[in-house]
Amino acid sequence: MGVRAEAVEANAGGSEDNGHGETKAHHVGISPPEDRGGTAGTVGEVQSSEEESCIELRSREKMISPTYKPKKKFMQLAIAEAKRARDRGDYPIGAVITRVIGKREVVIASAGNRVKTSGSSIKHVELETLKYVSSGYGRYLPDFVLYSTHEPCAMCAGACVWSKIGAVVFGVSQEDITAYGKKHGTEEFKWRACLISCKFVLKKGALRIPVFGKFLRPECRKLFGYRTALRASPPVKPRTRIAGPQTN
Ligand SMILES: [Zn+2]
Repeated sequence: MGVRAEAVEANAGGSEDNGHGETKAHHVGISPPEDRGGTAGTVGEVQSSEEESCIELRSREKMISPTYKPKKKFMQLAIAEAKRARDRGDYPIGAVITRVIGKREVVIASAGNRVKTSGSSIKHVELETLKYVSSGYGRYLPDFVLYSTHEPCAMCAGACVWSKIGAVVFGVSQEDITAYGKKHGTEEFKWRACLISCKFVLKKGALRIPVFGKFLRPECRKLFGYRTALRASPPVKPRTRIAGPQTN
């Protein structure tokens, strides 16, 4: 079964040059073949023959360079998505998936959490966004980067392994989540965490990729206490704009 567009609330993105100004919506799934070409990069140090899958993947597909530098604007977009999620009554967690095309990096999808509003405790935003992008761009995503305001849990990190995501960037750690939940958790927002690090899962999955933790951590930490100004207003109607590939 395909992933419905509204399940992820994916939004139109922009290029490195134009920021997030792109507003024209497209359907995911029409990535031109030339977007998947390019010179094969590296995926970090592959130190032993036990990681044959990494070697095989590196030789066949374009990977994110180990010298990749995360971009503030993409995490800021994830933070904006998190706030929108909170505004409609969900957990303030957001994610963005970008694609690196040569020297450009473009937003493919962005989404806010829907665990509360969907009634499904496993509809984590990272997992849903990965599923959505994968449904349009193929089963493996080695030239894509996942940005998340929160460290991906073991489930979502596992999805990163299976989809062979190219890099992961996250804001607050699972330790941050746990600490806040113990001290400030409320009946409405009981922050829980599964204390298995994202890096640990990726390592066990033999996925040697750049991982950047605690990126814009102070801004992401503020999401714990984010109180929507729309709280007393009717729920915000979910947006259903859909990102599309950059073809120019
Ligand atoms: Zn998760």
